Amino acid sequence: MNLSRAADKLGVNLSKLESLQQSILRRSSWPEPKLMRFEKTTSGIEAGTVIFENGDVVFGYPKIRRAMMLEAAIKKYFSNWIAVEEKMNGYNIRVAAIDGDVVALTRGGFICPYSTEVARRLIPPQIWDDQPDMIMCGEMVGPENPYVPKDIYPTDSIDFYLFDLCQKNRKGTAGVHKTHEFAREHGIKATALLGEFRADRAYEEITQIVRDLGKRGREGVILKDPENVAWPVKYTSSQSNCHDLEVAFRYYNDYALDFFVSRVVREGFQSAEWNETEEERKARALRIGESILLPLVDTVIRKIHGEQIVQQVQIRVKNIQTARDFEYHLRRIGMKAIFDPPQPDEEGGYLVRITKLVMSTNDKTTALIDGDMW
Ligand code: ATP
Ligand code: MG
Repeated sequence: MNLSRAADKLGVNLSKLESLQQSILRRSSWPEPKLMRFEKTTSGIEAGTVIFENGDVVFGYPKIRRAMMLEAAIKKYFSNWIAVEEKMNGYNIRVAAIDGDVVALTRGGFICPYSTEVARRLIPPQIWDDQPDMIMCGEMVGPENPYVPKDIYPTDSIDFYLFDLCQKNRKGTAGVHKTHEFAREHGIKATALLGEFRADRAYEEITQIVRDLGKRGREGVILKDPENVAWPVKYTSSQSNCHDLEVAFRYYNDYALDFFVSRVVREGFQSAEWNETEEERKARALRIGESILLPLVDTVIRKIHGEQIVQQVQIRVKNIQTARDFEYHLRRIGMKAIFDPPQPDEEGGYLVRITKLVMSTNDKTTALIDGDMW
């Protein structure tokens, strides 16, 4: 690997990059092609940035900041127009062709074998013949999504929705309009563009959109600058915040504290900003309370009855080897999971049920039931 060329592309000097090799640059030789990935953000290089063995650099997908008080955030960060896109709830994937082979990178910069198979199936491969440096950033969503399974989208399995385009070896993205135009031209699904509003009138429109999305169980919105100058901003529905709490409290000891606190705080700000009536606020309180308490109690009772607390997910593969590779991939990212034998499906592929073990919640709950102190 030519480190000096990679350093140029990354905008750091060679000695800096060499020193990072000792700390936050991690090598990965499986699956091919070999690569180095940035485990943390440093020197302006986003976490998840990858340097491939052939010298291609794929920058990490930038963090999107969250508005807590929507109206004030709009005033502060947008001046002209705002394009509102649906924020879909799945996992972030960057798809690129490295020496002609299409690979799907996770947020952390791993090649995910399952996402790679899905991306190769759903994205027309000719795109890369004409544009070999193109990187498609998108969300993998659906019930057969092993990281964040959701049945709120129009797919029974898994689907890819494009939300951004980038180029290898270059920072920055193409922006909303070019991305949607590209998706239309190539017959690829893209995250819904829900409207474009003048910044001074956007708050009411966006609030209504978020309410409607929430009613349909959808996550929320990403506000983007049509000129692609201002940074994007995210904002989510109460239903999505509560659904996150529901999942997290079921597996309460396997999530970081901040996950719980941040979601409850969001609800407080939204309730205040929306000037809710006493009745509406009570309904929100009940919704939050139920999403915290009910799954938690369920976990404790199940454990009292001697049940193992697990999380069931499933994937659907065309090639049986993909399932084996995915099993190895989960193990290497530190996730404990049991894979059932693949079941042939009607379309010539295989359905694989996976049981994810939530060790920490199991151990903690057992100990507490036995009388241990918190
Ligand atoms: P971060 O806040 O660091 O981006 P996160 O993983 O906690 O990371 P989220 O809270 O889900 O992320 O919000 C950002 C993510 O939302 C993006 O990384 C992307 O995967 C996803 N996303 C879904 N829909 C869109 C969209 N229309 N535009 C951009 N990102 C989207
Ligand atoms: Mg997300």
